[in-house]
Amino acid sequence: MQKIREMLAYRMIKKAKRSVLIVGIGLALLPATLVNALQAQTPAPAEGRGGRAPDRSLPLVQQALKLTDARYLISFNRYCMLNGPNTANGKGDAAVPSQLFDNLYYVGRTDVGAWVLKTSDGLVLFDTLNTPEEAANIVVPGMRKLGLDPDQVKLVVLTHSHNDHTGGLAYFRAKGVRVMVSEADWGPLGGVPNPESIIHDGQVVTFGETSITFVLIPGHTTGTIAAVFPVFDRGQRHVALLAGGIGPTGGVDQHRAAIASIAHLSAVTRQAGVDVFVDPHEAIIDSTAWGYIMRPEERKPNQNELIVGADRFQRFTQMLSTCMQARVVMYEQNASTGTRQ
Ligand SMILES: [Zn+2]
Repeated sequence: MQKIREMLAYRMIKKAKRSVLIVGIGLALLPATLVNALQAQTPAPAEGRGGRAPDRSLPLVQQALKLTDARYLISFNRYCMLNGPNTANGKGDAAVPSQLFDNLYYVGRTDVGAWVLKTSDGLVLFDTLNTPEEAANIVVPGMRKLGLDPDQVKLVVLTHSHNDHTGGLAYFRAKGVRVMVSEADWGPLGGVPNPESIIHDGQVVTFGETSITFVLIPGHTTGTIAAVFPVFDRGQRHVALLAGGIGPTGGVDQHRAAIASIAHLSAVTRQAGVDVFVDPHEAIIDSTAWGYIMRPEERKPNQNELIVGADRFQRFTQMLSTCMQARVVMYEQNASTGTRQ
């Protein structure tokens, strides 16, 4: 066990060349992660010898760690064990509203996001925070501060039906703004109001010169969606993915659904050339992106940390999928030994 940890720690040092700070965080997280991953198992006695049955999830956890970029160690820590730390705990505040790309803006909180995509035919808002008051007091003033007219919001897209994304919906519905959600996730929101409000897998919605492609990624909820759209960094075109919830909630069935969704998302984003990735809960996904979004005053000119590159994003999806596979094995092992989760 100690040897494995040392070996993995050594690999992480080699890997995480980019930032001494991140290496430090990584090493602090690493042993806890592996210890927890191991302790999540209740070993079954090996027949006749009373020893430990091998933990079949460990090779997958190790494989996932090899795929983990330093900035995603926090995702690894959360998703590669059954009881990962829950830092998406609703403890946050209004973030400083800021411009991330020529056409993409952040108007969310420190713990959950809301974004505005600017097109030549109005604004598209992704997610609405926890309450109508937060929509009125964080999202709308944030837009104004950034020179965006809240009356120009043509569409509200909800990534999924959890309240930290949908709570502010009533504010925009009262103004008559079009809303789009997947069919499954309209259920908890009171049912589908009309067919135009349903997001389908592969659907493309166009505003002016900007096309948004939707991808259904069940797992976190049955109707979680992701969106792919072009963004521009000082005129340079990139392709962004805004994924609503990539971590499954619930048990083994949701994990299997998430594994299939990640494979689908990986194929779609590879095809589209996605090289920018944003998530509503960066604090539990990507420490570098979170810092970049939350502290605009520390941004370096000519360095947009949200441009992760197509290869690195694909490796992230492989890491995530491998962690989910490890967790399925953990569930199966626990089921066979009667361990409660
Ligand atoms: Zn959620």
